[in-house]
Amino acid sequence: MSVSQPLIFRKGLDMKEAVAGELAAAYHSRLVDEVRAANYRHDQGRLTLHLAREFGFCYGVDRAVDYAYQAVARFPGRNVFLTGEIIHNPHVNDRLRDNGIRFLSDPEERGHQPGPDDVVILPAFGITVGEMLDYSARGCTLVDTTCGSVLNVWKNVVRYAQDGFTAIIHGKVKHEETRATASQALKYPEGRYLVVLDREEAAIVCDYIRRRGDREAFLARFGGAVSPGFDPDRDLDRVGCANQTTMLMSESLEIGEMFRAAMTERYGEAALANHFRAFDTICSATQERQDAVEALLDSEPLDLMIVVGGYNSSNTCNLARICAARVRTYHIADPACLISAERIRHRPVGAPSTAKADEVISENWLPAEGRIVVGLTAGASTPNNIVGQVIETLERFAL
Ligand code: SF4
Repeated sequence: MSVSQPLIFRKGLDMKEAVAGELAAAYHSRLVDEVRAANYRHDQGRLTLHLAREFGFCYGVDRAVDYAYQAVARFPGRNVFLTGEIIHNPHVNDRLRDNGIRFLSDPEERGHQPGPDDVVILPAFGITVGEMLDYSARGCTLVDTTCGSVLNVWKNVVRYAQDGFTAIIHGKVKHEETRATASQALKYPEGRYLVVLDREEAAIVCDYIRRRGDREAFLARFGGAVSPGFDPDRDLDRVGCANQTTMLMSESLEIGEMFRAAMTERYGEAALANHFRAFDTICSATQERQDAVEALLDSEPLDLMIVVGGYNSSNTCNLARICAARVRTYHIADPACLISAERIRHRPVGAPSTAKADEVISENWLPAEGRIVVGLTAGASTPNNIVGQVIETLERFAL
């Protein structure tokens, strides 16, 4: 295999106009536009539907999907691969497969090693430094759709590593974005990382910072979530907080404050700057969707809430968590989950966010008589056509 220098596209492929019609046909919904225009409210039969003011495709996903279509148009006759899911939405990924894009993560492609003749699209949440080096070394043409908000996190994590701070990453250790972000910390010899999933894990680490403790027990608990050779007695001396961009903002901020308090207690306020850093790395799209759903729950008395999005979509799962704390909530992947006016298939809120989450079927989910007031939102990887189909199905059930 002769290896050429990789061609990397990061700012578009000059085919935007050529694919605009195809994208609109695939993902647009006139009904959603109408609901938006009607102050995010839709009345039909017994149904009153309130749509969150921010929902669905974010700027990063919009761009990534656009680039994938552009890649197919720009390189006719060449193999176009995705390293894995471009975003966490099964409908969007299947459409890309239908469009001729091959997924290196699919069973039939496993073991395939793309070469200089191949085009490889990198997903919105990025890939690890090692994977990037590998694809570059192979001379593949790379279409990098990594979102700017993810790149911003990477920039800060690299800076931590450069300055000898361990990156404390609030995220899911197996999530592609968190794996990619963690790998950035290893660009410098002093770089270290530790991933914490939630407040409970953060509290264990903060306790260790305050009092030290059983090193082996610590490593047994966090062994799969730390950089190679991590030593809690050495590597928790200087820490910087970061997070997967799609986590629950309130939890990320709280975790940041927990670490600030622990480091202040251990090293004193005067020395804090030498031991602790933090910056807000929740992306604005995630924040806006979380804020919008809180505003909807504050303003409208709802019978129930529907959250639409992939079961492995972190930001969708977090929207469902916010809603479930306030009102009966169903997280569904697509309109087919609305089986009938009596039965709904959904992912239990709080279940592990994996693509194949165990779904359950609930009965009598819609009020059988009288008005039905439903709130609706969708994760950042859910296209409008799916949202529109959910609304149409609800209309049918609420005649
Ligand atoms: S959720 Fe945020 S970080 Fe992720 S692709 Fe969308 S805008 Fe980018």
